[in-house]
Amino acid sequence: MFHVKQSEKATPSSTFGVDTPLARELADLSARRQALETTAVEFSGGTRVLTVSNQKGGVGKTTTAVNIGSALANLGAKVLVIDLDPQGNASTALGVPHNAETASIYDVLINDVPLADVVQQSPESENLFCAPSTIHLAGAEIELVSQVAREHRLRRSLDQYFTSNTVDFVIIDCPPSLGLLTINAFTAASEVFIPIQCEYYALEGLSQLLGSIQMIQKHLNPELHLSTILLTMYDGRTRLAQQVADEVRTHFPTQVLRTVIPRSVRVSEAPSFGQTVIAYDGNSAGAIAYREAAVEIASQKTQSKEN
Ligand code: ATP
Ligand code: MG
Repeated sequence: MFHVKQSEKATPSSTFGVDTPLARELADLSARRQALETTAVEFSGGTRVLTVSNQKGGVGKTTTAVNIGSALANLGAKVLVIDLDPQGNASTALGVPHNAETASIYDVLINDVPLADVVQQSPESENLFCAPSTIHLAGAEIELVSQVAREHRLRRSLDQYFTSNTVDFVIIDCPPSLGLLTINAFTAASEVFIPIQCEYYALEGLSQLLGSIQMIQKHLNPELHLSTILLTMYDGRTRLAQQVADEVRTHFPTQVLRTVIPRSVRVSEAPSFGQTVIAYDGNSAGAIAYREAAVEIASQKTQSKEN
């Protein structure tokens, strides 16, 4: 369904005159940026629903959801990001209002409001949309317990949304827990996308997450599978980051993207401007890495729902 054409990567040249590690890094970045500029991706039919999950906190779930969403939108895909975290960080990064009075994903899950009624366009791109979260979502874990079909509520509203809206990607940003909000995401999605922070304890809790995915496959959503792993906050200067990356690649050879996301100040400061790093500084190292990861995701061979 996706077709990616990428020109040969230009070889890093001595654009910066001197041959130092920094000059080489800058030349390499410039070559990668040029390669991205000549990359064309075609999106045709079918919707992929990915849930960005990891019950470990602060591993880059939200950063990944919004930046991959924005990078895919820049490539021409129509993208809906669903903010399923009461912290509302994805809504903030996408520049979408999400104060207590805003119609939000809480109303969809608890008050049967159609998803189309809460979706807002991100100021960043005409292809990028967000179903925001508000502070009310903090109570949803408990309120959902007594709801009919409590595990399927997001799936049902998405299915209804698809009857009159066409999107190429739905990306769900999950909270750092395996509660009913995350279960709703697992039931609505067909792909799990796990960001892993390249630090000590990175793999801790991963077997619990994989166990939950298996349970959901067995009881609620047979389509669900782990399609993508992205290594985030990579610091190439430390041996530990390299060791974590090698270990993850050994365990998940087909799911780990080639691209790794470096630790980058630009990435971490973008949300305070209500922007993704793609909009904030699209040619910074972190933005280029997220744009490359988006191209990889767009070219993955995977099953999609036909609209
Ligand atoms: P939570 O579990 O609380 O939802 P999360 O998994 O969504 O967290 P993020 O909020 O995306 O994680 O990232 C955690 C922190 O790390 C944020 O302050 C974010 O700006 C920062 N961060 C994420 N990726 C990078 C990066 N590549 N370089 C530098 N900082 C980063
Ligand atoms: Mg988050």
